Amino acid sequence: MKKAIFLDRDGVINDNKKPVNKPKDLILYPWTIEALKILSNQGFMLFVVTNQGGIEMGYFTEDDLKTIHDEMMRIFKSEDIPIDDIAYCPHFKTKCECRKPSPGMLIKLSENHDIDLKKSYMIGDREMDITAGLQAGCTTIKIGKPCKNAHYTVNNLLEAAKLIVNL
Ligand SMILES: [Mg+2]
Ligand SMILES: [Zn+2]
Repeated sequence: MKKAIFLDRDGVINDNKKPVNKPKDLILYPWTIEALKILSNQGFMLFVVTNQGGIEMGYFTEDDLKTIHDEMMRIFKSEDIPIDDIAYCPHFKTKCECRKPSPGMLIKLSENHDIDLKKSYMIGDREMDITAGLQAGCTTIKIGKPCKNAHYTVNNLLEAAKLIVNL
């Protein structure tokens, strides 16, 4: 079994001050590439798990989301960063198992990629990310304001990566 990092997208990988509805709205944080390289070099598979309820709300389509993620993957590929899969929940009002705080996306990825969730981490900037990670059995790292349930709290993804190296 392999170990993985589950990454929330908005507010972790990219700036989320404005909604990301088009590829040009996706602004990576200046430290994202370095942080992902550190984690990849530690032998973790890398997954993005993102709630994209804007699809069900009609703000953008699944095709729009695909163009955004294609652009994100193009950037990562050009930096030799292997992102192994992207999972998203398109739902907003529909009851589903995938929308965080439910752990559905993490569990499905772990089954598809033979991941040991107990050796894996969930990194997110919202409490729902932490709850999803805890329900999946992962160690959780909160970015930004502390959240009492999270195992660790840090300021950004680079700090999270350096923390994981030292655990
Ligand atoms: Mg977020
Ligand atoms: Zn869903």
